[in-house]
Amino acid sequence: MVTAVGFKACPRCGGDVHTKADMYGSYRECLHCGHVSDIPTPRAKFAWTKGRLKPGRPRKSATKRDAA
Ligand SMILES: [Zn+2]
Repeated sequence: MVTAVGFKACPRCGGDVHTKADMYGSYRECLHCGHVSDIPTPRAKFAWTKGRLKPGRPRKSATKRDAA
């Protein structure tokens, strides 16, 4: 991961800030005071339609309704 440096971007001490990323997302970390602030990342949008929610064998009436 390439780190980007923001000079004097820390809201706490005004120090230099590195932009890092881990498995939870990207965040900024101050080199001087250790202040960490999350960078909100847009969540992935899923466009799947709601299907059968319960696992297992479908009910007979449900299968009849689906077939019709
Ligand atoms: Zn700082």
